[in-house]
Amino acid sequence: MIIQKPKGTYDLFGDEGKKVLYLEDLLKALMQKYNYEYIKTPLFEVSELFHRGVGETSDIVSKETYDFVDRGERKMTLRPEGTAGVVRSFIENKMYGRASQPTKLWYFGPMYRYERPQSGRYREFYQFGVEAFGSSDPLLDAEVISIPVNFFKLLGLRGVRVNINTLGDIESRQNYRKALINYFKPHIDCLCCDCKNRLENNPLRILDCKVDHDLDIMKNAPKIYDYLNESSKKHYEEVKNYLSSLDIEYIENPNIVRGLDYYTHTVFEVEANVEGFGAQNVLCGGGRYNSLVEAVDGPSTPGVGFALGLERVLTALEFEKKELPIEDKLDVYVIPVTEKEKEYSISLVNTLRMSGFSVDMDYMSRNVKGNFKQADRLCAKVVIIVGEDEINQGYLSIKNNINNTEDKIDNDYIINYLDEVIEEVE
Ligand code: AMP
Repeated sequence: MIIQKPKGTYDLFGDEGKKVLYLEDLLKALMQKYNYEYIKTPLFEVSELFHRGVGETSDIVSKETYDFVDRGERKMTLRPEGTAGVVRSFIENKMYGRASQPTKLWYFGPMYRYERPQSGRYREFYQFGVEAFGSSDPLLDAEVISIPVNFFKLLGLRGVRVNINTLGDIESRQNYRKALINYFKPHIDCLCCDCKNRLENNPLRILDCKVDHDLDIMKNAPKIYDYLNESSKKHYEEVKNYLSSLDIEYIENPNIVRGLDYYTHTVFEVEANVEGFGAQNVLCGGGRYNSLVEAVDGPSTPGVGFALGLERVLTALEFEKKELPIEDKLDVYVIPVTEKEKEYSISLVNTLRMSGFSVDMDYMSRNVKGNFKQADRLCAKVVIIVGEDEINQGYLSIKNNINNTEDKIDNDYIINYLDEVIEEVE
């Protein structure tokens, strides 16, 4: 039996591969405009980092990590998300000591979670994310929320909806936590198995439970807004004001709590509001985590960030029938008429590639007719034919597919010629 890919993974190639590269380029350019710095951290880290940086009670750490013991008997984990590694790096590389703050970082790469594979959920998936450290200004919360919003705008996605909520500062959050425990305790028998455990460990998570969310007791549960102290209220109001200044429409949704213990103040999710998209319609999620750096033994430093799932963005594009401009035509296809012209041709191909053109040639010993067919398959803008006469007399025969002409061009002028005709199209 042939070996197959592991469950919950996929191979990326062809048009899908081109789309991912296109999205990566777009994100890279966007991050440059926002003045964020690229960071890459290892795909695996010591397991303890995720226990502390994501939280023991989160679903991710309690049920979904890929753990292994390495040959040096160290407990390691394939990263299930990007924030913990970036926080570790921020501390280890003393980025908090830089004169220029805040420290604004972005990353892109694969994440690993042992989840039940289903549509929109993979065991290896790609996340783009940002983490901004060192400022507790609500202005930064608004900037971070504006990143996915602008990215989706650039892609032309229309059915996206921004949901925001606040969890308040640590004091407000703790008071709210107590109120939730008191409220749900008498109803514990109605709750699902997971929520029974959440009641003591992570009661906020009961609010976003997919199983229990239709229960009547959910509707009357205490609301965070009644437990916010003045400074938490002020932070939240300011975030909303800045979002309005940015013309970002949002919906306040008190059930957005996010899975992690360290979120404070703003939490948000962006969902695809497209009919038929299915349950996995959350494209991105994030928030402020003012106590996370300290939890990983760094100096108390505020932070705010988000992560976006690339596969879900691709699905959203499909649902909205948005095509990405990924159709890449080849600039030049070179045809050696016989074996004898191969040597000359490969050197020409190399020169043209180094001059900035995308160039390919025949490697299948096709005849000239077969090669013209291949040039068509590759959508070559210009075909260069190299025969004995051409080499002896120092010129190249050209079939220009842009304006359907045939030309003879002196060897020395070929780059000028290509510059002119190809630039015309671009
Ligand atoms: P999270 O880190 O769980 O907040 O997820 C952030 C984003 O990553 C989600 O909104 C999804 O778009 C994406 N995501 C999370 N888990 C998966 C998964 N198993 N497969 C594909 N995308 C995922």
